[in-house]
Amino acid sequence: MAAIFFSRRKVMPFNRSPILKVLWIEDNYPNLALVKRIVEIDGYIDFYSANNGTKGLVSAQENKLDLILLDIKLPEINGFQVLKKLKENKETENIPVVAISAHAMEMDIDKAKEAGFEDYCIKPFKMDTLLNILNKYKNKSPKNSRFGKTTNSLVKQF
Ligand code: MN
Repeated sequence: MAAIFFSRRKVMPFNRSPILKVLWIEDNYPNLALVKRIVEIDGYIDFYSANNGTKGLVSAQENKLDLILLDIKLPEINGFQVLKKLKENKETENIPVVAISAHAMEMDIDKAKEAGFEDYCIKPFKMDTLLNILNKYKNKSPKNSRFGKTTNSLVKQF
């Protein structure tokens, strides 16, 4: 048993522990499943998901998150209400939150900025757009500085 254990450890080139803990609060399952696959390919992201705001708030409290991607149109409590609750809680108030909106009409940019969203992203978005958002927050994370700075005009920043 011990021999197998040590041989496995030897082939590991380095510790690939996740460097960015991301929660996606999204009620559209196919969308969520696709995103999950993308972040798994990335390999440096610890991905959490919730299909409504209530579950999302629980997850945000339980996991020490680096980033929350928050769908605006959610059942029961909407994205703005979820954000408000995140900001009211000392444990979650400093987690950057990116608004994910189904279409431009749904998103009042000034209102979102005022509410406390860091960025916003309009669906449907390209894979690169999502990866650039994630890379941007990797760069900001004090845990790691190996990733080069990325810029993408598709990623809107306030
Ligand atoms: Mn939705």
